[in-house]
Amino acid sequence: SPSPAVEALQHGDVARLLPRPDAESDKYRRGVVGVVAGSARYPGAAVLAVAGALRSGAGAVRYAGPGADTVIARYPETLVSAGPPRKAGRVQAWVVGPGLGDEQDARQAVAEVLDSDVPLLVDADGLRLMDLDAVRARTAPTVLTPHAGEASALLGVPREQVEGARLASVRDLAARTASTVLLKGSTTLVADPDSSVPVRVNATGTGWLATAGTGDVLSGLIGGLLAAGLPARDAASAGAYVHGLAGRLAPDPPSATNVAGALRHAWHDITT
Ligand code: AMP
Ligand code: MG
Repeated sequence: SPSPAVEALQHGDVARLLPRPDAESDKYRRGVVGVVAGSARYPGAAVLAVAGALRSGAGAVRYAGPGADTVIARYPETLVSAGPPRKAGRVQAWVVGPGLGDEQDARQAVAEVLDSDVPLLVDADGLRLMDLDAVRARTAPTVLTPHAGEASALLGVPREQVEGARLASVRDLAARTASTVLLKGSTTLVADPDSSVPVRVNATGTGWLATAGTGDVLSGLIGGLLAAGLPARDAASAGAYVHGLAGRLAPDPPSATNVAGALRHAWHDITT
């Protein structure tokens, strides 16, 4: 029989997908995720993306953006590198975009990570700054994480059209960009660039997640799962599952910082 158009991950599926350290683990083997986020205008986005990455199960988080002092003050375990992303060593997956603004440096940083041959997640300002031909030309997996407004800009259609046809829109965008696309909303859809692969639907979230900064946490989390070695579709859909659950487990009404803090409770809930 033909494969279904959509499917949902179950608790047990996510438990099997999440990275688990073993006796052979070291921090590099567990994965290093590089984060390029934040700007003078949006310094907090860097902190939130790093917070998500630190609770992803990756072995280390490297920050390569303009907000190193702010990030380190909050999370001293972050490795920071001065200078452009291409100078940062040993990054196994990149996250680019949250709060990046649109200065020339931001544009250049996006171009550099697009040019890398490791998995990449592009979100928020990165989605506006990326060159579509460079995205399609990538050799390593790419994950795009737009909300409906960002997806409408990428597709060149009104937002209402995306909202009214979310499944068709996410599939269309994945095909056009040759990327895994995660479309945010009250339910989250994850489409593979191969249109024969079912779209994953996630409904673990809550309306409380509709608050500033939660998307930045999600970006860091999924980037960390990519660095830990999950395939793009699994990283995106397991990340959405864990993030949505964290939104439910955080005390109401949660801020994005609380959602990041609750990731460990979601993780515990899933793996035990
Ligand atoms: P962003 O749009 O980048 O700020 O990200 C918002 C995050 O909150 C995404 O993970 C969305 O899927 C989630 N979210 C937004 N609105 C809702 C909602 N009504 N119900 C559940 N999750 C939501
Ligand atoms: Mg966002």
